[in-house]
Amino acid sequence: MILDIFGSNVFDKNVMRQVLPEKEFEEVMQVSAYGGSISMATADVVAKAMKEWAVAKGATHYSHWFQPLTGATAEKHDSFLSVSNGNAILRLTGKQLIMGESDASSFPTGGLRQTAYARGYTAWDMSSPAFIKEEAAGNILCIPTIFVSYTGEALDTRAPLLRSMDAVNQQALRIVRLFGDTKAAKVTAFVGPEQEYFLVDREKYLKRRDLIYCGRTLFGAPAPKGQELDDQYFGIIRERVGAFMKDLNVELWKLGVTATTQHNEVAPAQHEMAPIYCAANVAVDHNQLTMETMKRVANRHGLVCLLHEKPFAGVNGSGKHNNWSLGCDTGDNLLDPGDDPMNNLRFQLVLACILKAVDAHADLLRQSASNVGNDLRLGAQEAPPAIVSIFLGDQLDEMVHNIVNKTADNDAVADDLDAGISTVPILRRDATDRNRTSPMAFTGNKFEFRMVGSSDSVASATTVLNTIVAEAFCMAADELERAEDFETACRKLIRRYMKEHRRIIFNGDGYSEEWVREAERRGLPNIPSMVDAIPVLTTEKAVELFEKFHIYNRSELESRAEVLYENYAKIINIEAQTMLHMTSKHYIPTVVKYCGELASSVNAVKTACPDLDVSVQEDLLRRVSNLLARTNAAHTALAANVEMTHTLNVGQEMARSFHDRVVPAMNELRSAVDQLEVLVNKAYWPVPTYGDLMFEV
Ligand code: ADP
Ligand code: MG
Repeated sequence: MILDIFGSNVFDKNVMRQVLPEKEFEEVMQVSAYGGSISMATADVVAKAMKEWAVAKGATHYSHWFQPLTGATAEKHDSFLSVSNGNAILRLTGKQLIMGESDASSFPTGGLRQTAYARGYTAWDMSSPAFIKEEAAGNILCIPTIFVSYTGEALDTRAPLLRSMDAVNQQALRIVRLFGDTKAAKVTAFVGPEQEYFLVDREKYLKRRDLIYCGRTLFGAPAPKGQELDDQYFGIIRERVGAFMKDLNVELWKLGVTATTQHNEVAPAQHEMAPIYCAANVAVDHNQLTMETMKRVANRHGLVCLLHEKPFAGVNGSGKHNNWSLGCDTGDNLLDPGDDPMNNLRFQLVLACILKAVDAHADLLRQSASNVGNDLRLGAQEAPPAIVSIFLGDQLDEMVHNIVNKTADNDAVADDLDAGISTVPILRRDATDRNRTSPMAFTGNKFEFRMVGSSDSVASATTVLNTIVAEAFCMAADELERAEDFETACRKLIRRYMKEHRRIIFNGDGYSEEWVREAERRGLPNIPSMVDAIPVLTTEKAVELFEKFHIYNRSELESRAEVLYENYAKIINIEAQTMLHMTSKHYIPTVVKYCGELASSVNAVKTACPDLDVSVQEDLLRRVSNLLARTNAAHTALAANVEMTHTLNVGQEMARSFHDRVVPAMNELRSAVDQLEVLVNKAYWPVPTYGDLMFEV
């Protein structure tokens, strides 16, 4: 059944082989694998075949599908309808397929495009296949495209990602050649993003303005039960959630997304889906489609999918583990240590380069994973910390130690693990252990970068990974290509890199206070928030790196920083406004009413039976009234801070003020209201509680 539907809505290689003439098929294959562009004549042939395939599948429109700097995807549907000699016909031309021009002046560009020259251009990314999305608006043929300005500056996340894949391909090939490999013609960055999410009941969701406007709760006292029993992680999947997962898989499989793993995650109502890894740009597309499909399918089941990094305070938030590796077109994985890493010089070199890359640019990696929601996770005593470090596991750690200390023949042997159960075969223990607190862990034959937020695209993090590793490869290759005795030079370089950069390796508990101090001693950057991370994009070091490999030029970086500051300010503003609204429209009126009724009941009791003890009622009334006053004061203070912040200059100054003034004021208001929630009769409380939301799915 899976194979019948898998990829059925994708214009993939198999379909193309069937519907395209051989010459055009070969041309498309060549360009999609190795770059370049197809001729207009070929584009016409492909467009016609694609349109016919799509129309046969019920498609009425096509769309260039791109990923602007909003972090989401964008589409504008155009029907295939055309009029020729007074007759309606269906048409998709080669030009329409490969290029689009869109007004698109409302996308964030950080000043790259003045509105007067607002045209943006979309161009087909042939390495990611076209697909049909079944939407309420019809079946839409989506053509993955980059989105650039008239002068070619990237206005999206895909163009830089593709450039970075190119860069790491070129530099990795130099490394591979150093070891005598002449067969590999391409090295691909692979990504497998694991997606965490929450599901809540739609009826309850609709009763909370914070969920509707912000995708997370801005108020909410903890439920009596949280995640402390560990009974949700890998637990039995509830029927309603199971039905959702089953539908989700079908929809994803149709789109060629290799949805494979599904399970309950740590927090109540939290779940995860992981696909099988593939080329980074396709993985990014698939992840975007996954997020979108999760939301759509949830609706069908009376659920809402929350992709926010921290929908609920007090329980785990959601992230996206970005599993990343580099593979040759010969099938060779550059991150595979093999059976004997101690004698695998190429692996050692690759590892040394990655250590160097991550150490040199830890700040950029941190920045690539920052978004507003992730500020509530990174560094907040849950996975992972805000300090970038690498976890290697015992065997590789010992290898690095031995190389640095020149200890011969002291290699760590992967030992057999005796499971102690006779029916279980003896397993060969992975060369790495699991350290869930590490932001970047080596897991067998890939690195798992765990800082990315659940709602974010994995494009920027992958772009940074590719670029920084390309740089380290480039430096190593520059040196080693000139060496007279390659092997000796290579060993020396590996030792040097490992020695210089081993401070980035940390195998301990990343949540501990001790690590924060230790990291400081080691000189590792600790960047606590998104606003603190943005300036990292435009340091001379970053500009030099990205310009050298043609990923971003200075103005593209400056524009991105600009967009991020604005994005931060806008989101915190929406959250603050939502809090003000909920407080004045829901919480204060509710509590005023509750106090009134408490007071009347005190009076009623006193009148009816003057000798009775009403101290409990009076005490409750006093405590609730005090908190009500505190709520009101916090409301006023928050409003004043927001107002003041709006008078500042848009950009860094305003974002800073939102971070430094508005966020603490939001926290104070939340604290007062959450305490009220605990005291006030549940029958009065105007919104569903944490217990209602997380345990009644
Ligand atoms: P784990 O349980 O160690 O996190 P899994 O084997 O379940 O790992 O894989 C998690 C994700 O990593 C999946 O999306 C998987 O396809 C992906 N993955 C596995 N091998 C690689 C690789 N070589 N490169 C990139 N991603 C990979
Ligand atoms: Mg994992």
